[in-house]
Amino acid sequence: MIRTGEQYIEKLRDGRTIFINGEKITHHVDHPAFKNAIRSIAVLYDYQSTHFDKMTFMTASGNRIGKHWMFPTTSQKLIERGLASYDWARLGAGWLGRSPDHVSSALVGMMTHIEVFEAYSQERADALRNYFHYVSEKDLYLTYALVNPQGDRSKSPSEHTKNRYHTLGVIGKNAQGITVRGAKMLATGAPLADEVLVGVHNPLKPGADERYALSFAMPLSAEGIKIISRRSYAIDVNHKDYPLSCQFDENDAVLYFDDVFVPWERVFLFENIEMCRRQFHSTGAEALMDTQSMARYAVKLHFLAGLAQAMTEANGVDKYPAVRESLAELACYAMNIEGLFRSLIHNPNVHNGFYIPDQTLLYTCQIIAQSIYPKIMDTIRRLAGGGVIMLPSSEEDLLNDEILSVIEKTQYSSVLSPVEKVRLMKLVWDSVGSEFASRHLQYEMFYSGSSIVTLNRFYDRYDWQFSRELVENIKVS
Ligand SMILES: Cc1cc2nc3c(=O)[nH]c(=O)nc-3n(C[C@H](O)[C@H](O)[C@H](O)COP(=O)(O)OP(=O)(O)OC[C@H]3O[C@@H](n4cnc5c(N)ncnc54)[C@H](O)[C@@H]3O)c2cc1C
Repeated sequence: MIRTGEQYIEKLRDGRTIFINGEKITHHVDHPAFKNAIRSIAVLYDYQSTHFDKMTFMTASGNRIGKHWMFPTTSQKLIERGLASYDWARLGAGWLGRSPDHVSSALVGMMTHIEVFEAYSQERADALRNYFHYVSEKDLYLTYALVNPQGDRSKSPSEHTKNRYHTLGVIGKNAQGITVRGAKMLATGAPLADEVLVGVHNPLKPGADERYALSFAMPLSAEGIKIISRRSYAIDVNHKDYPLSCQFDENDAVLYFDDVFVPWERVFLFENIEMCRRQFHSTGAEALMDTQSMARYAVKLHFLAGLAQAMTEANGVDKYPAVRESLAELACYAMNIEGLFRSLIHNPNVHNGFYIPDQTLLYTCQIIAQSIYPKIMDTIRRLAGGGVIMLPSSEEDLLNDEILSVIEKTQYSSVLSPVEKVRLMKLVWDSVGSEFASRHLQYEMFYSGSSIVTLNRFYDRYDWQFSRELVENIKVS
């Protein structure tokens, strides 16, 4: 049995608590804010079940599950994992950032370095191992919440004395488990995923912040988890006016843990600041999860290059050398990321018999990815001119004969019909200008950490000795 889209949707009817637009929602699957994005994820599972040879594998227990859960025990398996992610990304043209293959890959990466957990605690390593078995065999969809909420970044969580339960932390423990209270900044896809993995990406102060240093996983329907959704971009929009907002608003939500009980078998690290860092940076977690990100990003940049070309062709400016050069630049960015992604899956390092993408190269990808996206948006906006504004107010205008007749006179293109041109320009706007597009810009700039974090991480890992030797050699000769 392979998990189907319908099974995924049915399992989401779990009564989780979501707050949106002044309402508390406990049946979210058919809510206008979430229903289309949920169906877009269901499409991924359906694709997996109909293309099971390339998208799935058989586990030792006899279940057929997504290749994103597969251990990269050979270089070929690493490639297959990467290509499966690339294929999934194509279904949403790269607009689904937190598809189910992202956090699953992080868990695989923790398991490939299980000795990091074993050296810390045999019990917590067993909890991780058993949890991995559980979620992977069921092919569940996880999101994660790693970053602490903004408050006063100049202070550590324990120094937020006016609001002691601002940041998620432990408030009690007994033989069965721990009780946690407080917030995590964001969990993309919280209304869409089955479970959430909690960890910590922010620096914590040894001797003071231990109660904030923990990692666990829980179903998003667990008692006490409150999902505070941001504004939905899918409500009150239609497919033709906002084709991306409508289908791919994967939503981001603040998670508030209102005294949530977490059994020990779901706690992977507890009151250990160093392990918070090691969980992602000393295992294969980051490398495998962000290899998925690069597959998705490459697809998205190809989409944007194609979109820009279609738009300039529609306006007849594609013949100008300067415009061709801008288009070439966009395609070049896409090929740059494509090349980096291919290099990640084709040039791994071997650890414990597992083939893991190179971490330094991965950090390079993160920095390039977050720095080029604003430039790409800027280039497409420059190529668009006012064409993305010179548009009818909504699809309904096309249904009114009087307005349509004017639209047909004003939306001229030598390669597209007026209605086709309107639809294309609306897609461009939803890619670069709408609130959905703007959120994507913020996402690409921040999801792997702010640039000060990614640049410093890279600085620490780059082989400076190699480059300094080149300098020394020239000096000597
Ligand atoms: C759309 C979106 C979706 C996200 N989804 C998720 C998710 O699913 N799960 C999750 O865990 N996180 C998620 N995040 C959070 C993301 O990981 C963080 O935004 C990112 O790590 C940066 O942290 P921050 O937002 O707290 O920014 P901050 O750390 O508060 O930094 C903000 C800015 O302040 C400045 N700054 C901060 N500290 C310093 C310093 N020491 N020196 C100099 N300048 C400084 C920098 O200019 C920085 O860019 C998401 C973010 C976005 C935008």
